[in-house]
Amino acid sequence: MKSACHDPLQSYLPRLRARLALVFSLALLCGWVLFTALAPKPVGAQGATGAGHLLIYSIDVEGGQSTLLVGPTGESLLVDTGWPDNRGRDAERIMQAMQDAGIKRIDHVLITHYHADHVGGVPDLVARVEVGEFIDHGPNREDSPSTRAGYEAYLKAIAGHTRHMVDPGDTIKISGLDVIVLTEDGEHISTVPGIKPVPNPYCASERAWPTDPTENARSTGILVIYGKFKFLDLGDLTGQKEVALVCPRNPIGTVDLFLVSHHGMDLSNSPALVDAIHPEVAIMNNGAHKAGMPAAWQTVHDSPGLEDLWQLHTAENSDAAHNSPEALIANPKGDGDGHDLKVVALANGEFSVTNSRTGTTKQYPRK
Ligand SMILES: [Zn+2]
Repeated sequence: MKSACHDPLQSYLPRLRARLALVFSLALLCGWVLFTALAPKPVGAQGATGAGHLLIYSIDVEGGQSTLLVGPTGESLLVDTGWPDNRGRDAERIMQAMQDAGIKRIDHVLITHYHADHVGGVPDLVARVEVGEFIDHGPNREDSPSTRAGYEAYLKAIAGHTRHMVDPGDTIKISGLDVIVLTEDGEHISTVPGIKPVPNPYCASERAWPTDPTENARSTGILVIYGKFKFLDLGDLTGQKEVALVCPRNPIGTVDLFLVSHHGMDLSNSPALVDAIHPEVAIMNNGAHKAGMPAAWQTVHDSPGLEDLWQLHTAENSDAAHNSPEALIANPKGDGDGHDLKVVALANGEFSVTNSRTGTTKQYPRK
């Protein structure tokens, strides 16, 4: 009989072994959880905050500007907020970038000027996101109904927030970064601390640009320096003011990354500016049917030393010869919307650009 052969020790040993195996497995699992929680995070393309790099997101706001910068300690600066309405579309896209960067609030919002594609998203943003302070060039200077309305909506939306009006030469204090105001309200800086102005050889052949009475010419433009990495964003600054900034002497030197001015409109992007700053990479925040004009595209494309011109959209009013290869376009014709371009820059000057549509990253080693 089976029960007659039963040996208590024989049946107990397998159960003991099983229990020991279970305890050992649990100990291993706990050890792994502790290790992953406490181990230092690698500096990677995912770009978590506080990891010793600068993140820059060029957010797709369909032909406006919204550029999110997150510094090496997690302090953030949002340059412009996209358009109003569309059920908060642009604020939602800003929040997507914030989530990717791992931030819960925006410390500084810089409004370059008061056109709807830059300031229009402020009411939707403040309804959803905590903002530390707003920075701008002071009162609206353009007497048009839409711009007056945009400025009034802005003032109403930022009521109760800190507002800080800047002058050329001011710095925006962000831990780990130097953010210098180059242009503002039609004025410009002539020297940047630490950069020696140099004669600009491209001024001699530059054409005469018309006076621009709009808010574009009042754009607040910034130079962001993180160690050896330099990023230039001049908002929608137009040709005459660009030339005034860099001629006869260029106070900026060269930059690693250039946000193509005015979404690639040919009222901006003078060769005297674009050639002198010699960007390694340019990002054009055009819409599918806004800006990305052939002449401006060509000027940026032909800038000496340019390696890649990335675009937020295929410029559908242009032609194939004036659009970058599809891998460099976040939102190609017929392939979705709302994808951003993400830059991860290190203080040694190396950086990468990731196309959020494809998930592919291109590295730009220090030259
Ligand atoms: Zn614009």
